[in-house]
Amino acid sequence: MSEQRNPDMQSAMVCAGGFPGFCVSAPAKINAGLKVTGVRPDGYHELVTVMVPVSLYDRLEFWSCGGGVNLECSGNPVPCGEENLVCRAAHAFFERSGIKGGVKIRLEKKIPVAAGLGGGSSDAAATLSALNRIFENPLDQVALHKAALGLGADVPFFLRQGPCIARGIGEVLEPLEDWPDMWYVIVTPPVEVSTAWVYSNLKISLTSDKLAANMAQFKMTPFEVAGFLTNDLEAVTAARFPVIIRIKELLCDAGAEGALMSGSGPSVYGIFKTETKAREAKAGLMPMLSGEVFVVSEALGI
Ligand code: ATP
Repeated sequence: MSEQRNPDMQSAMVCAGGFPGFCVSAPAKINAGLKVTGVRPDGYHELVTVMVPVSLYDRLEFWSCGGGVNLECSGNPVPCGEENLVCRAAHAFFERSGIKGGVKIRLEKKIPVAAGLGGGSSDAAATLSALNRIFENPLDQVALHKAALGLGADVPFFLRQGPCIARGIGEVLEPLEDWPDMWYVIVTPPVEVSTAWVYSNLKISLTSDKLAANMAQFKMTPFEVAGFLTNDLEAVTAARFPVIIRIKELLCDAGAEGALMSGSGPSVYGIFKTETKAREAKAGLMPMLSGEVFVVSEALGI
């Protein structure tokens, strides 16, 4: 079990050794609402979702070097070769910028993998941003967004740093400036969920874009936010892993204003008004749960 407090996070900070080494904190996200609104001819699902970056971070360190992309990984197991999104992002950066440089990267993986918390996408966005800074901004914001979208639908969200409504396949982003201060207890049960499997088992009943209309009113209290929590993917994942419903019940019994599965799962979070309430809930829940439990709040961007 581990947890993250809410450090005064800077998304990219110069390492103690100074330029050209960079340390970057890459936050997880939760989906505070997710509605699938259609399927495109190419098979991608269109959706409306509210995404909030939270204070559970992977850590990445970068050093520019002669040539090639060299990645070392520690922490939660993750593929460390060319299939890692960090390597893919680094190659995308060098291709799009035309820079002939190279980079050595260390990834300390703290965000649970394939857990609905967006860790891979966040690492990819952090890599694009860090390399752009190290090599003195050869890509403008439009080019960075395009590179991010080429790596995954959630990657552009992590470039923005802040709660957003995402539409399209996730790439059309509308910032939510007035997201309320809340605390979240995230529970990640020890089951593996494939995002592709969840979408392929989703029976789409096309719904209107009401979620976004409602979410746009988010000058709300945590209690009101809790009233809007909904995730079309939850029923699919929970049918296979009933522990998800059990965790939601436990979170609500422990005082959460509301609880929801994040993304395609299996992570589930509860909303709490204060840090004290969230930590008390975590302490009460730990003996009843296996897996990881984190107390987090909104991640602060630069
Ligand atoms: P998604 O919904 O995009 O699948 P997720 O949060 O559920 O997101 P991730 O932790 O991003 O899941 O991992 C998804 C897959 O991506 C995993 O199968 C993992 O092996 C692969 N992957 C590649 N690079 C990374 C990375 N840097 N961190 C985490 N996973 C990675």
